[in-house]
Amino acid sequence: MQGLMMSMPLTITSILRHARRNHPQVEVVSVTADNPRHRTTVGECLQRSAQLAHALQAQGVKEGDRIATLAWNDYRHFETYYGVSCMGAVLHTINPRLHPEQLAYILNHAEDQWLLLDPAFMPLLAAVKDKVPELKGAIVLCEQEDLPDAPEGVALYSYEAFIEGQPVEYDWPELDENAASSLCYTSGTTGHPKGVLYSHRSTVLHAIAAAQKDVLCLGATDCVLPVVPMFHVNAWSIPYVAPMVGAKLVFPGPKMGDGETLHDLINDEGVTMALGVPTVWLGLLNYLEANGKTLEGLERMGVGGSACPTSLMRKYSENYGVEVIHAWGMTEMSPIGTVNTLRPGMEDLPESEYWTMRAKQGRTVFPVEMSIFDDDGNELPWDGKAYGALKVRGPWVVSGYYQRPEVDAVDRRGWFDTGDVATIDSAGFMQITDRTKDVIKSGGEWISSIELENVAMSHPDVAEAAVIAAAHPKWDERPLLIVVRKPGQQVGSDELLAHFDGKVAKWWTPDAVEFVDELPHGATGKVQKMALRERFADFKFSA
Ligand code: ADP
Repeated sequence: MQGLMMSMPLTITSILRHARRNHPQVEVVSVTADNPRHRTTVGECLQRSAQLAHALQAQGVKEGDRIATLAWNDYRHFETYYGVSCMGAVLHTINPRLHPEQLAYILNHAEDQWLLLDPAFMPLLAAVKDKVPELKGAIVLCEQEDLPDAPEGVALYSYEAFIEGQPVEYDWPELDENAASSLCYTSGTTGHPKGVLYSHRSTVLHAIAAAQKDVLCLGATDCVLPVVPMFHVNAWSIPYVAPMVGAKLVFPGPKMGDGETLHDLINDEGVTMALGVPTVWLGLLNYLEANGKTLEGLERMGVGGSACPTSLMRKYSENYGVEVIHAWGMTEMSPIGTVNTLRPGMEDLPESEYWTMRAKQGRTVFPVEMSIFDDDGNELPWDGKAYGALKVRGPWVVSGYYQRPEVDAVDRRGWFDTGDVATIDSAGFMQITDRTKDVIKSGGEWISSIELENVAMSHPDVAEAAVIAAAHPKWDERPLLIVVRKPGQQVGSDELLAHFDGKVAKWWTPDAVEFVDELPHGATGKVQKMALRERFADFKFSA
């Protein structure tokens, strides 16, 4: 027997309608390149989203078309989240720190038709324009008078002129809740970046869950500052959660790495919850300590993307009264998988035990399921000791990659292998202990070790090279290049590192080189990265 309740599609449009009706007056504050405090409201932004949808429709954009963005967090980028997805097109947010080669690959693979970009990223557009034949034009997120010169052959508009005069209402289509809403490529993988294609349903379910008390705990009395970029898994869904619950939004624009700006935004705007990777919060902490500053109303800080050092949690808690909420997730998981929030009795634990618990990545968020498995696929006990491949499944977990049918995202039993290795204790708290994927995460952004190895191996004096992640106090991890020279060759670190110039993004270049006589190999001849990571576990980068 079927239930007799309405079947209302879960679409991002339903968030838009709810926000416009219930809290249009909620403030949206942004730092932009030319305005330290731009102020608007959710209602105005969503009217401009409708104008954007009209303008894109006038250019022939249809349901399912991909529209790319290359932008920092601000109100215009926020408007694209609704304008593009609610008209039925797919918002493809791209990381501007990518090397132009990767950017061109992603734009082509996604067959993006239009690119919306900040003026600061014009050089990237100039670098890729001849390699992206599908792109019909670019829209610069600026006023008409600030429109930069168009690179040759590119149809260029200013966002403000593009949407000007368009109606502020749009007859939003009734979308299938499983229709694609947005697209984000992950570089946390070997080979080419892979596209994760979110649906309206997965996005809305994730946002409802994210607002819950034991997740991000967000409501109408909150003011939330997503420092995590809007190109990074939809800024961990804050642009959807805040309009859903009526929370004020504060966007840091290009100043996300600036301790002083973050401090001022938090104190002046009444931020209660801020989210970002550990490197950002370390930067803010250094600023606070160096300048004897305090944080006024900040209650919680969501930290994820990389393991959060316990010392960081303790300092924020003990010196600034801010609770650090450690979370784990992935692009493939929209991104939230687990969150570390208190369980009854935890606060009474002895101090060291308490912090050991808080440093774990946390418990699963319903209805995501997770477990750990050995190499033969047997499930391991949740005893806090056994460790194995961490796998997940749930309604906001990837089922396949965009236009990559050859990649099996999910195993026969329906689990997605995260590439992380973890323990889970009897209370359900998961802790990451290692990683099987061969990548490095620096300041929350991926670096491909394989690409770096290819560059190193292309040097004529190098016999063999391996790149591993080594612990770094500021960036969490940085690439360490380990090299076996060809017999009789004496190439040095400086020359080898100079060899990376122009071949990879500058921030990918390894921080140090170690020369060894040989690399450890497994039975199949593959370099044993785990053995290398163990050998260089105590490696310290010079300051
Ligand atoms: P995000 O950075 O938003 O979590 P990515 O897809 O870029 O998403 O990266 C996901 C990977 O980052 C995870 O598989 C894991 O290796 C690492 N990661 C994310 N959060 C944590 C965390 N809290 N602790 C340790 N590693 C983490």
